[in-house]
Amino acid sequence: MQTFFLYQYCFRVQYTTISCSFYSESDGSNVSKNNDDTRTDKTHESVTDSKLAEPNDANTSTINSQVDTRDDSTPSHEQERVEDDNATSKHNNAKKEVKKGGASASKHHESGVSPIVYSEDEPDLLEFLWEETAKKKLFNRLLGCTYGQALGDAYGLSTEFETRQSVDYNYPDRSKLIPFPKYVLTRHSQRWRRGDWTDDTDQWILILETLTETNNGEPDEVVFAKKLENWIRNGYPMLGDHGGMGLGANVSQVVHSGGYLLDPLRASETVWERGNRQAAPNGAVMRCSASAFVHYRDRAKVISTTMLLCKTTHFDPRCIASCLAVCLAITDLLNENFDQNDIESLINRVLKETIDILGASLSQEHRDLFLWHTDKERTLEDLDLDEPRSIGYTYKCLGSGFYGLRSTRSFEDTLHDLIRYGGDADTNGAVCGTMYGARHGYKALPYPWLRAMPFKKWFDTKLLQCLEQMQLI
Ligand SMILES: [Mg+2]
Repeated sequence: MQTFFLYQYCFRVQYTTISCSFYSESDGSNVSKNNDDTRTDKTHESVTDSKLAEPNDANTSTINSQVDTRDDSTPSHEQERVEDDNATSKHNNAKKEVKKGGASASKHHESGVSPIVYSEDEPDLLEFLWEETAKKKLFNRLLGCTYGQALGDAYGLSTEFETRQSVDYNYPDRSKLIPFPKYVLTRHSQRWRRGDWTDDTDQWILILETLTETNNGEPDEVVFAKKLENWIRNGYPMLGDHGGMGLGANVSQVVHSGGYLLDPLRASETVWERGNRQAAPNGAVMRCSASAFVHYRDRAKVISTTMLLCKTTHFDPRCIASCLAVCLAITDLLNENFDQNDIESLINRVLKETIDILGASLSQEHRDLFLWHTDKERTLEDLDLDEPRSIGYTYKCLGSGFYGLRSTRSFEDTLHDLIRYGGDADTNGAVCGTMYGARHGYKALPYPWLRAMPFKKWFDTKLLQCLEQMQLI
């Protein structure tokens, strides 16, 4: 099908927004050379990417009618990335003023020091945390959870939506790391500023904000829903955004359905039911560890918050199981309730707990698949991460996370091996990274890579505010 569409490029930049557009085809060839995946920019309605997971998705007709013109014989099941119409139209208006907060934040203070971007020799704002002798191990794990997420996301962007063959083409020497942030740009990755994280971490931050700004950290799905809807329209304007980039189709469908801001759970369930309960995308597991970050001291609250914020967009029990397994594991890691030499005990405990919580709502088939994807015998090859119909399946992302949790190699090697498989590499990288980071800590993350993230200072500031609200500093 030779449908032509307008493809919008937008860079998240500090001081300027570069926006240009061109026409391409909707068969996926627009994504990058040698790419045969199913990510496509499907319609003039600014659809950019698509992700598929499992066969027999009754969501196919719904999704296709809205965002996807893929061959009807292709079973659609999974997350698809769409670019919000509003965001795109805003991208076109490069002269549009950023919002008030953004305008002030994006300019240097009178002192000449930017509040969002570190200058080359500027020390990290987090430095003083390592002097807190009593808590530095905790801070190391908390920040490892956070920046493992952001860095895994940012590094994974380099091969997002690529096939393993196209990754081999761009990086033929497997013994060398894919460089960060100077990776080979693809049509997809060039939409972001080099080194930046994507929607996965943006939505992680939305959860952080929701839980630290509301009453005693009590989860409130309406607060989160409003933040999510606002992010879709505006992104983080202070970082140069004009809309949330990299949005998944499932989230888009849910947020744009009637009554979402009044009753997000009902809207989410309706979309899931309309899809014949087939869709189980990774759009919730990719952001979930923020709930463990905030509530790690209260396991019951981790469980209730994780389930609620998952269901706010993803109602399928497989999505909930994925979020629970990740958050329960991270809760144990943050509390040091594990043995570094026996990580399997933690994993077995968490998998069993997840299954017990979900009970009969998780079918035997889905329970078996849950255990298959998280089994210690599972290899990255087994996960088949670039299989075009299922790259965004929540269990693949979950499997990537447990691969990261089990790793005792360096962060760079662990993530590199993962993202060479392409597929939904930023999302797989985010969950792999957050689990790796919660176990091994912030200090195990490569500092030059951390500093290559253009908006680390902004994130550091936000995290320090959060730690203060959590009464840790
Ligand atoms: Mg992303």
